[in-house]
Amino acid sequence: MAIEVYISQVQIEKKVKELAAQINADYHGKEVVLVGVLTGSFIFCADLVRYLTIKNSIEFISASSYEGATTTSSGNVKINLDLKRDIAGKHIILIEDIVDTGLTITQLTKMLKSRNPASMKLASLLFKKVRVEHPLTIDYLGFEIEDKFVIGYGLDYDGYYRELPYIGVYKA
Ligand code: 5GP
Repeated sequence: MAIEVYISQVQIEKKVKELAAQINADYHGKEVVLVGVLTGSFIFCADLVRYLTIKNSIEFISASSYEGATTTSSGNVKINLDLKRDIAGKHIILIEDIVDTGLTITQLTKMLKSRNPASMKLASLLFKKVRVEHPLTIDYLGFEIEDKFVIGYGLDYDGYYRELPYIGVYKA
């Protein structure tokens, strides 16, 4: 088993600061609710929020479209953990670790929009553009990546490697 660094800790930190600066500018004078999609986005959320200067609160939601240790999408989204607060009338930024086929985020966006937020935008650290099957707009994108299975910085392989400070490529 070998892990190759694909996006370094330094590159990630720089990008997260840039994204936060964009969000601070776009929401100047407003309040936002960040909705982190568990589990993969927890580190991205934690880093991003520390660079925000706008008024904000954080909620988490858990949805899964992958099962077990498989490395291909199962095509099914399930809500495992819902938000604790009502988001009606709030400005929402959905925070994802990675958009692959786009299924998870498309389903989540649809579901959350039915709760009548004032606005909803999407931030994702990673985007596998070549894999997308559900067209969507990523308002705050970290990195567009190739069709590789990546781990680290919150992303797992079978529950492991989330603690890596970089995005790595796992090679069996
Ligand atoms: P989508 O619904 O867009 O196909 O899949 C999104 C979810 O699949 C992500 O939130 C993540 O949990 C998982 N996923 C997709 N690609 C990767 C990958 O390269 N590595 C890891 N660890 N998870 C991935």
